[in-house]
Amino acid sequence: MSGSPVWHPFTQHGLKAPVPLVTHARDALLYTAEGEEIVDAVSSWWVTTHGHCHPRIMDAVREQAGKLDQLIFAGWTHEPAEEVARGLVEMVPDALTRVFFSDSGSTAVEVALKMALGHWAHTGRPRHRLLVLEHSYHGDTIGAMSVGERGVFNAPYAPLLFDVGTIPFPQGDGANTIDALERECAGGAAAFIVEPLVLGAGGMLTYPPHVLKAMREVCARHDVLFIADEVMTGWGRTGTLLACEQAGVVPDILCLAKGITGGSMPLAVTLASEPIFQAHYSTSRETMFYHSSSYTANPLACAAAAANLAIWREEPVLERIAALGEKQQAHLNAAAAAHPNLINTRRCGTITAIDIEDADGGYLSTLSPRLMGYFRERGVLLRPLGNTVYVMPPYSITDAQLDKVWTAIGEAALSVNR
Ligand SMILES: *Cc1c(COP(=O)(O)O)cnc(C)c1O
Repeated sequence: MSGSPVWHPFTQHGLKAPVPLVTHARDALLYTAEGEEIVDAVSSWWVTTHGHCHPRIMDAVREQAGKLDQLIFAGWTHEPAEEVARGLVEMVPDALTRVFFSDSGSTAVEVALKMALGHWAHTGRPRHRLLVLEHSYHGDTIGAMSVGERGVFNAPYAPLLFDVGTIPFPQGDGANTIDALERECAGGAAAFIVEPLVLGAGGMLTYPPHVLKAMREVCARHDVLFIADEVMTGWGRTGTLLACEQAGVVPDILCLAKGITGGSMPLAVTLASEPIFQAHYSTSRETMFYHSSSYTANPLACAAAAANLAIWREEPVLERIAALGEKQQAHLNAAAAAHPNLINTRRCGTITAIDIEDADGGYLSTLSPRLMGYFRERGVLLRPLGNTVYVMPPYSITDAQLDKVWTAIGEAALSVNR
């Protein structure tokens, strides 16, 4: 073995692409050991919301580090977790009354699925069928993969993944989706899990709020629990704190992670409605919720989340997001007008995506790794999904930095054409 022993995620080491070493970061900029400044146009994989090393969040972690580092959370508690739970319940719709902590988006989803199944088991009406939306992504653990799109990502494990009912992705007015969901729900199901408004890893696919609303109504009518996975869409990405707000949708279960700490520390929550909590509530230990991970509600991560919540309460975050969204739209329009091979432009809040016309499309298209190198040479961190280039920047990105990102995309469009 030579070089680093690190085995990186979603990285084919055999391709021997350089792995840049980053020494520090601030706002939307990453600084490498080689002295480069890289614009982080993917928010370090969709987590960094306000910007890297936000002073309020970093200070809160520093202060907490002097008090309490870690605590068993089964039957014990600490103030940062209590503060985050109280703050979250105040920010989300009233029906979501209970907050269960974990440490990643995948875990938040596993917890959501177990809560839904537990709800049915403990109310004497066992149901196990789960419904999912085509092209979804909910994480990389076995349960989360099971409710996600099947493909090259999980082919080796396919025989172990459990069966789900897949609802087609909305086309046109979304009738195809609603009709299929109606049929599946009528057949009986425990829950439907969905990424509201934007399917992230599936290719930044967007669909309108009225379809989200209609999906929620179908589930309510058939008593099928509605799980909103807002791990990516939460914390302002889509223009509102939660994407569900834009459809007036209140889920039974809500998953949050990524931006919950402003993207600084691993933390996740699964919020549940009171009936789901009550299904587990009794004097019998048989119905308690059997789920925990060692670092559940880690105090340092909770301190970061509490600081993030304070930023949301006290600073004009939504105004910043609205302004960023408008700038993103202008860049998107200009890029599409200048480059005929940039197609299918779409935007939801601060997220923009565009497809580069490419004969051999798909995730394994050689276009994506080539583009990543191309962008990096231009001081921009972008990580296309197949031939989809998306820009999901921290909210503190400057105009000049955003220009640099879109200039690089325009140049890439030209170079692909040649
Ligand atoms: C990223 C993501 C997850 C998984 O979160 P991790 O923290 O990476 O485990 C789940 N759902 C959605 C919608 C995501 O974008």
